[in-house]
Amino acid sequence: MADAETGNTMITIERDELSALTSFDDAVAFLASKGYEVGEAADLLGDGFTSIEKKDLVNVPLVLLDATITDSKDHIGSQFAVIRAITATDMRVRFSDGSTGIKEQVLSLLAKRPGGVRGVLVPRGLTSSEYFFCPNCESALSEGKCEEHPKAKISKGETFYFAV
Ligand SMILES: [Zn+2]
Repeated sequence: MADAETGNTMITIERDELSALTSFDDAVAFLASKGYEVGEAADLLGDGFTSIEKKDLVNVPLVLLDATITDSKDHIGSQFAVIRAITATDMRVRFSDGSTGIKEQVLSLLAKRPGGVRGVLVPRGLTSSEYFFCPNCESALSEGKCEEHPKAKISKGETFYFAV
């Protein structure tokens, strides 16, 4: 049994079905009929999308094409979203987010729409908000100092959102 994840749908193909394929054309047609996107290795390995910093997508109109949620290898128990989109300037872009911003918005979209983020227009692109982080509290603060830990080294972070 071979499984592959295409978008949100798990496709199951029995080994017998694969064994029954006898030609290149049959194989391509069969996989397409099962819902696989049949594509060239060169395109798939490069994937055709340019990795981009989220800050470079602030106020840049986007149409979302795909988003996946993946378990983080670095932070056990946390997840991040990988989003693929095309900008109004015709750039194919890929970016990831593990925050309470975009990742949570992606989870909401995946829950609401059968096609997930595909076809979602974001006319104002991304927006961001700054936050401060106290290492002692291990939580975000709205201002640059912690009442409980006045000596803690407060760091600054930025959360990105789809502008809605
Ligand atoms: Zn604190």
